[in-house]
Amino acid sequence: MELVKLVKLVKLVKLVKLAELEKKMKTAIIGGGAAGFFCAINLKEMVAPMEVTIFERAHRVLQKVEISGGGRCNCTNSFANVIDLSQVYPRGHRLLKRLFKGFGPQDAYAWFEHHGVRLTTQDDQCVFPQSQDSHTIINMFLAETRRLGIEIKTGVKIDSLDLLADYDFIVVTTGGQPQTSGLDWLQHPIEQPVPSLFTFQIADKALQSLMGTVVEDATAFIPGTKLRANGPLLITHWGMSGPAILRLSSYAARILAEKDYRLPLAVNWVSRNEADTLEELLSLQAKHPQKQVQSMRPFALPSRLWTYLAEKCLGERATYRWQDLNKKGINRLVNLLCCDQYQIAGRAPFKDEFVTCGGVSLSAVNASTLESKLRPRLYFAGEVLDIDGVTGGFNFQAAWTTGRTVAQSIADQASQ
Ligand SMILES: Cc1cc2nc3c(=O)[nH]c(=O)nc-3n(C[C@H](O)[C@H](O)[C@H](O)COP(=O)(O)OP(=O)(O)OC[C@H]3O[C@@H](n4cnc5c(N)ncnc54)[C@H](O)[C@@H]3O)c2cc1C
Repeated sequence: MELVKLVKLVKLVKLVKLAELEKKMKTAIIGGGAAGFFCAINLKEMVAPMEVTIFERAHRVLQKVEISGGGRCNCTNSFANVIDLSQVYPRGHRLLKRLFKGFGPQDAYAWFEHHGVRLTTQDDQCVFPQSQDSHTIINMFLAETRRLGIEIKTGVKIDSLDLLADYDFIVVTTGGQPQTSGLDWLQHPIEQPVPSLFTFQIADKALQSLMGTVVEDATAFIPGTKLRANGPLLITHWGMSGPAILRLSSYAARILAEKDYRLPLAVNWVSRNEADTLEELLSLQAKHPQKQVQSMRPFALPSRLWTYLAEKCLGERATYRWQDLNKKGINRLVNLLCCDQYQIAGRAPFKDEFVTCGGVSLSAVNASTLESKLRPRLYFAGEVLDIDGVTGGFNFQAAWTTGRTVAQSIADQASQ
């Protein structure tokens, strides 16, 4: 009986000591964005006595969350359509595969719902707040920081880790930086930052006249490489946009930067191989021999686009009847539908881009804890790391997972 009491007493003393120790501990989080808030709230929930302060250089926090997803915040994805993580995380997929085991998309979904943000999954597997309003997430984050006593210091730019010398733990969540020089103060190996998720400028007046045309299932690719992306493609007044182009810009981010955004681009407008496309055209010819070529569209392509393609390929013969089109003409149409060539002439201005490819090299952080290998008790989370995803909620998911991983690592260290 006495022994049981003694064991209980020892446990109590240990707990009191731990609480006292933790009470003295302070964590500085640099950057009041998605990863910074998620890390701060999770850390404070795990280690209540820890003093947590978020330093934000701007006068308002969470600005990207606010404008994300057209103001609706595509906060994660069900991942139901993701077979291979490298499809959606061109950089960082190996690390995330490992970290998702600790805190993955389903955990993030449950976390938000547990914190009062009801979510909904669209048919395309993108997850949004049911309110369709990013402020629901922002308001929850702000309410949680108030409830937990997390301090937020805005208008404070941190450009030296020495400024935070009296903190026990430092977490860098400063997001994507356009220039390597913007990361010099971290004194860590950096993968050169280049833009990702941008639209292509294409100097082709005839194409631009199709502005507003959407092809639901196109495949854009860089000829002579394996870089290709499939999905809706939008023709704009400056060139091409839409999920297929954004995804391709992500896969090809480095090579596009190296070539100064001047590379050949090809589009398969029907996302079919040549044999299937030929079969469709021959079937059209057999069913509608008397109709003009340009008036009968294969694969329900938008009519303006089909007229443009038929004229580009056949010239005035686009007005011929299908029965008058010879084999050579049909083959030329097949080639154009499957491999229509353009020249990328540039990209949209930097401010329009969604994410940065590059950042703090993953070789410089512990893959389980995200602690720096060079400086103990320094951690990284979010887009400042060399991790980036395609559109669809994948970038926020990376911010939640890395933010939570860091919170857990600090909580583990604090209790040692
Ligand atoms: C227009 C737009 C729409 C987007 N929509 C989506 C979407 O719907 N779904 C999705 O998954 N992703 C989306 N993204 C990407 C997503 O917003 C980012 O991947 C995500 O915000 C990264 O989170 P983060 O916390 O790492 O960085 P950020 O959210 O960028 O936060 C970093 C913060 O650190 C601050 N900071 C930087 N340097 C310092 C410093 N030295 N000292 C103090 N503070 C500093 C910055 O001011 C900023 O507030 C979108 C991006 C943009 C631009």
